[in-house]
Amino acid sequence: MSPGARYPPDLDRWREAARIAAGARELGVRLAVPGAKLGEIAEAVEASIRAAGAQPAFPANLSRNVEAAHFTPDVGDRAALATGDLLKVDVGAHLDGAISDTADTVEVGGGRRHAHLVDAVHAGLAAGVAAVRPGGPVEAVGRAVAEAIRRRGLKPIVDLTGHSIERYLLHAGKAIPNVPGASDAVFVEGEIVAIEPFATNGEGRIENGPFGHILRFRRPPPERDAPLARLYERFRTLPFTVRWVPDAEERAALERARRLLQSYPVFLERGGGLVAQAEHTVLVGPEGAEVLSARSGGAR
Ligand code: MN
Ligand code: MN
Repeated sequence: MSPGARYPPDLDRWREAARIAAGARELGVRLAVPGAKLGEIAEAVEASIRAAGAQPAFPANLSRNVEAAHFTPDVGDRAALATGDLLKVDVGAHLDGAISDTADTVEVGGGRRHAHLVDAVHAGLAAGVAAVRPGGPVEAVGRAVAEAIRRRGLKPIVDLTGHSIERYLLHAGKAIPNVPGASDAVFVEGEIVAIEPFATNGEGRIENGPFGHILRFRRPPPERDAPLARLYERFRTLPFTVRWVPDAEERAALERARRLLQSYPVFLERGGGLVAQAEHTVLVGPEGAEVLSARSGGAR
């Protein structure tokens, strides 16, 4: 270990959270068949995380087609997948705040119409992971990601980035851009980071769409507000959704507390392009990135 390294003291817990998140991601991909309901996929993915002894770090994001990110089904969502839908399955698990964040993209029905998008984003992720060096520039990841995607005639989305992860903080201080020239930061040995390229055949930028049913506490609620205090105790500063709040009193408390809550819009591709995403949580090791959220069967 080099001087200045900052491994989490409970690294095993981070590894286990990532193993659980990877299994949940794969379950979501398997369940993404024509006619499957988004609500049922989200519930199954989140239940698998709980059954493995962890908690979802955020609601299962099931964004389709021009939606790049931040859609989760609301209570009672009836939408179903159709053949040819390009579905992003973006899931997170945490163990006592040790978070993993991982995503994959599947073409529903198993066709190859959008295979170039899926292949490009996988190539971008592999190139980005390979570019990580302790003490090395974060910018190298963006350079590698963008090159891999552009070489396939597609665009990286410039305004969505990977990110460092800290305990109970999904998006910690450091952004990992998917294009060159967008970061002066360096990787520190022992850091946990999410690398997450997005590839599109559109403009390569996003715009805000409608509310995607994902909320987050901006700060702790007043302690005298018992239902809100209970919810904060459960979710802290991690994203959550009303599907996870069956209690009527707590739901009403959320309605009253909108100023305490950040609500996330769905990110839409600005040019109406289709979007593919792939994401791994990695540890910045002594030689380079170690993928913590690899396929459960072995190498990714
Ligand atoms: Mn992420
Ligand atoms: Mn993610």
